[in-house]
Amino acid sequence: MKKVLITGAAGFLGSHLCDRFIHEGYKVIGMDNFITGDKKNLHYLESNPNFEFIEHDVTEFIKIEGRLDFILHFASPASPIDYLKIPIQTLKVGALGTHNLLGLAKAKKARILIASTSEVYGDPLVHPQTEDYYGNVNAIGPRGVYDEAKRFQESITMAYHRFHGLETRIVRIFNTYGPRMRLNDGRVIPAFMGQALRGEDLTIFGDGMQTRSFCYVDDQVEGIYRLLLSDYSYPVNIGNPNEITIKDFAEEIIKLTGTKQKVIYKDLPVDDPMQRKPDITLAKKLFNWEPKVGREEGMKKTFEYFKALSKEELYKSEHKDFSSYINK
Ligand code: NAD
Ligand code: UDP
Repeated sequence: MKKVLITGAAGFLGSHLCDRFIHEGYKVIGMDNFITGDKKNLHYLESNPNFEFIEHDVTEFIKIEGRLDFILHFASPASPIDYLKIPIQTLKVGALGTHNLLGLAKAKKARILIASTSEVYGDPLVHPQTEDYYGNVNAIGPRGVYDEAKRFQESITMAYHRFHGLETRIVRIFNTYGPRMRLNDGRVIPAFMGQALRGEDLTIFGDGMQTRSFCYVDDQVEGIYRLLLSDYSYPVNIGNPNEITIKDFAEEIIKLTGTKQKVIYKDLPVDDPMQRKPDITLAKKLFNWEPKVGREEGMKKTFEYFKALSKEELYKSEHKDFSSYINK
């Protein structure tokens, strides 16, 4: 049996990846310190003999007994409000955490895949974004803690590949959504759906003309799985190119949820990218991947998940309105 270590296992993407690798017949070690994750995302795996969980902060030295075939490094705050709230931890997990995991991969002769992001393109001037675009990032702006941590992560990963001959993979993930996102993590999909469920107005930041392209989690996991098993060491975009303005997206959510509320406008956070859409030609060419789940179907499934959450979860006011916080 192949053995895989997944960091960020208690988070949204990490927990879905644990599912997928268990399903494919791997032994899975999940690692997390719960800074933005939740134990309940792994509840269903607790009794599985092929799953082991280690509570650990990956910025500290990581010790794993025995063999490891693959490492997937997904630990990192991922929502703008999370990384603004814990900026130093965000920089550390991208830099020190990645360094520790590369060292572990080298010691175990394991292949490592790291979770990068469309944020490495910053507020992009090239549209759609291709992997050869260097990006337009403000290193010292509020989002810089995430963007630069991820850019450093890519850089040190390529250095381990070139200098130590390590087998490395880099996925640039574009906005991905689905069940197990935190309802109050501040990202636009849980934010709008939470507002609709609580009977609040939907908060659009800026004039709503900025665009995003949303990818359903099952498609994202399939892309990551295929990239890991490919033989390509450079960054690959994985996302859904179906682009929409945030204003039109809010209207879609109003229709889907049946809320009687309206949209209200708040300040646009500093450095909020004005456009984002992946060019996925490379993923198609390398491992014949493209997304299969349309926004209507994916949003329906996601809304079902949020609707089933408890009242306590729904009213937990983690980051209900954070636009002023972001603009500090
Ligand atoms: P998430 O917040 O749900 O999951 C992140 C997990 O990492 C959490 O469980 C958290 O507790 C854990 N973690 C953070 N710091 C840690 C540390 N020092 N040690 C151990 N565990 C730690 O976020 P997500 O959406 O699942 O994102 C997962 C990864 O994918 C991140 O690296 C993120 O940058 C990347 N990503 C996600 C998206 C997206 O749209 N979901 C987009 C681009 C990139
Ligand atoms: N957004 C919004 N209202 C909200 C939350 C987010 O209008 O309540 C906007 C945000 O300004 C951005 C887009 O939605 O333009 C996507 O934000 P998200 O935090 O999901 O992710 P990002 O792509 O910015 O990392």
